[in-house]
Amino acid sequence: MMEHALRLLKDVFGYDQFRAPQDEVIRRLAGGQDLLVVMPTGGGKSLCYQLPALLREGTAVVVSPLIALMQDQVSALSQWGIRAGCLNSAVSFDERSRTEQALRNGELDLLYIAPERLLQPRTLDLLSQTPLALFAIDEAHCVSQWGHDFRPEYLQLSRLRERFPGVPRIALTATADGRTQQEIVERLELNQATRFIQGFDRPNIRYRIGQKDKAKDQLLRFLRDEHPQDAGVVYCLSRKKVEDTAAFLCERGFNALPYHAGLSTELRAHNQHRFLTEEGLVMVATIAFGMGIDKPNVRFVAHLDLPKSIEAYYQETGRAGRDGLPADAWMVYGLQDVIFLRQMLEGSQAPEQQKQIERQKLEAVLGLCEITSCRRQTLLAYFGEADHAPCGNCDTCLEPVPVWDGTEAARKALSAVYRSGQRFGVNHVIDILLGSNSEKLRERGHERLSTFGIGKDLDRNQWRSVFRQLVARGFLGVDGQGHGVLHLTEACRGVLRSEQTLELRLESRTQSRFTRSSVP
Ligand code: ADP
Ligand code: ZN
Repeated sequence: MMEHALRLLKDVFGYDQFRAPQDEVIRRLAGGQDLLVVMPTGGGKSLCYQLPALLREGTAVVVSPLIALMQDQVSALSQWGIRAGCLNSAVSFDERSRTEQALRNGELDLLYIAPERLLQPRTLDLLSQTPLALFAIDEAHCVSQWGHDFRPEYLQLSRLRERFPGVPRIALTATADGRTQQEIVERLELNQATRFIQGFDRPNIRYRIGQKDKAKDQLLRFLRDEHPQDAGVVYCLSRKKVEDTAAFLCERGFNALPYHAGLSTELRAHNQHRFLTEEGLVMVATIAFGMGIDKPNVRFVAHLDLPKSIEAYYQETGRAGRDGLPADAWMVYGLQDVIFLRQMLEGSQAPEQQKQIERQKLEAVLGLCEITSCRRQTLLAYFGEADHAPCGNCDTCLEPVPVWDGTEAARKALSAVYRSGQRFGVNHVIDILLGSNSEKLRERGHERLSTFGIGKDLDRNQWRSVFRQLVARGFLGVDGQGHGVLHLTEACRGVLRSEQTLELRLESRTQSRFTRSSVP
């Protein structure tokens, strides 16, 4: 059988050899076993079910939430001579009838289908009258209620086992920590499944995270110096910022396109198609863009805003360098990002239990930003791989971060927050520390506070850096009402009582770490 598989690999897909663990996965799936495959983006998951689809009798059913990408996949497969179709809400009535007829006639190797469509009684009936090769459940982490991509329909997929006993099932995802893997196994009833968990390391991606200082100009410099002709993705949090940034880059000679959920379906599909087929396009996008995008030569992924979790950061940056060649994951972030995300989180209607999880996820992102040791080590440790050596291919490895003893500054900052009643935002508190001659301060009598003017040894930017690090490390909390009011947390006691010293990152105003020429 594996000889046959290798021949198909060469003749149909045009590849010379399997990547580990594709061959083992394919052997087992073709042999009728259930499997869970966790492989990083770009690892080659699709082949794990596409090839068994050709090896086994009947049609392989691929469940995917990514309706927008199905048609692309079907077209790509057709070019290889594989008979594929898709069923989802975007498919016309005629097209649907044709696909269903092909299915009945046994003329489809693969059927891509959205979960809600699959679960309709009508579809289930149709499928039970058809010989099926296998079920592939793509983006299987969507079954996890605590994940960042929960899709309620996915929970219903557990019914497949009962309804189609004997049809092997493979669940695939790029992001699942141990807990999520367990959830997938339980909720999809994959108890007998063999697990293939591949390492998370993407050695060709160089991670860099720095402080915002006129973010758009920083981005422009990064693109001009390092990626003037390359394809890449720039992630922003809001639609407006996507539009602004795309326009900004176009004005400066880049071929940039916007992508966000506020654009019409047609325009989104059009921009995505151009990104996939043309060279050197920069996609400026919200997180609405990217899941399942298969473009091997994306040379950079830039973040102008903080992602909400390490999973999201890893998944988004993982779209770079799928061809294995050097690629950049570049991010800048600032105090406002931290405050904004905290506010969104605290102000949301989510149940407390979920907020708690989201808080922890955000802490982990901030931890990644603020560490002074290897970024990759931290990332991989988050996914349970604790035994990696410093990588030599991230900013902190390439140019060790200078630190300073910020204990005294932190104490001043915390007292200024406390003395002014924990009712003000960061700019006001910095005004107090600097002893600014402002009306707002005098109105409140803040020029009489003992902390007034005690911070003249640092400038405003240095103070912002101190506050950012204090917020990031959880020594200061931010209210959820949208005013950015700071308050002390339990965690800052040690510092206030002089029981704890605090090492802070020394921020260079020149941002030298953001130009490759300065990297040894
Ligand atoms: P994933 O779904 O895991 O993100 P894909 O299945 O889209 O990854 O594959 C990523 C890239 O690797 C694609 O361009 C694909 O054509 C290529 N690829 C997959 N398997 C092999 C192989 N055995 N040899 C060479 N290239 C491969
Ligand atoms: Zn490193």
